[in-house]
Amino acid sequence: MPFEKFPVEGVTSEETPRHTAEKQEKKTFRKALHKWLIGGTLLLGAVEGGHLLSRWREGAFVKPEDYVEYVEKEKPLEDNEKQSLYNKLKYLKERFSGAPLREMMDGDKESKKAKRESKTTEVSGFETLGFTSEEIKNYLLNPAFYPRGWVGDSVPRVTLERKTLVDAKGLLAQTHKLSGEIRFFLLDEDKQELERLETAGIEKQKEFKLLRLGGLEAAFGHELGHANSWSGSNNLTPLERANLLYQTTLAFGEAQGQPDSFRTHYVETISKSDPQIEHYAKVTEWYAELCGEYFNHPNSLKRHPQEFEFINAAIKSQDPDFDPFKAGKLKIGQKVDILESTPKNGR
Ligand SMILES: [Zn+2]
Repeated sequence: MPFEKFPVEGVTSEETPRHTAEKQEKKTFRKALHKWLIGGTLLLGAVEGGHLLSRWREGAFVKPEDYVEYVEKEKPLEDNEKQSLYNKLKYLKERFSGAPLREMMDGDKESKKAKRESKTTEVSGFETLGFTSEEIKNYLLNPAFYPRGWVGDSVPRVTLERKTLVDAKGLLAQTHKLSGEIRFFLLDEDKQELERLETAGIEKQKEFKLLRLGGLEAAFGHELGHANSWSGSNNLTPLERANLLYQTTLAFGEAQGQPDSFRTHYVETISKSDPQIEHYAKVTEWYAELCGEYFNHPNSLKRHPQEFEFINAAIKSQDPDFDPFKAGKLKIGQKVDILESTPKNGR
């Protein structure tokens, strides 16, 4: 699991001033999150509640013709290409409404703006977990570990913040659906544990660092998938975006019928009152989960050959030289380097 569940509904137990303050904080925080469109559980909670739902409903009216017209503004299509694109869009519209079509157009416009800006990824806040920005750049964001352009082109910023929320623990991550910015939230960090750790021995500190690195890595692989999805990528043409969503939807559908398919508890338990939103959320998160597994555990993903082939082909169409097994070996070497660098402030 890339992150712990976010408490979407309700606050528990008795009301104390502290609880009320936290409740308010939680409300404000959640409101801020509504501006962030994707982020697994966060999005899924937000889509049904806030203005995202009305945004979805407005987008629902986008027609396949609108998308074809958008594609043709860039490059006129041959008749057969046009027909093929139209059929795919019609298929998507029937399943999800027109909202994802608009999302792809928005993502495309956003990527054109981003292209004009710098390609370095800003990093901040990881000192909380005992990592320098340099370590994060060399490890978590190392371009050699991922397909070409996936980090540098599509992720402008990666940050980590501490947050205290009632009933929420662990590491939470979210990706802005259009810009690709990734935010980590460290929830409800146990202060006593951190204090104990400051006085703990080097070995204990290394163990802790390794644990944290694993958590960041797992979440990052998933979020990087979102940042490079049909709406998040800065490297896809409008035609490629439609193809990627279409192929992902087909592959997800095929996997559903298979007893030994790649499944995660997270995707399985997504539940929405609108079946189209639910279906789209599942496809979106399934794609991100596949990316995460492909980057972090390619060997175990290979046990699901259909899903492995799907994501491998999707990624290789963007970077033919990428090899997740080679990347995995490089990572191990880099991890050792980080652990050997003695923690300075105990965290
Ligand atoms: Zn997600």
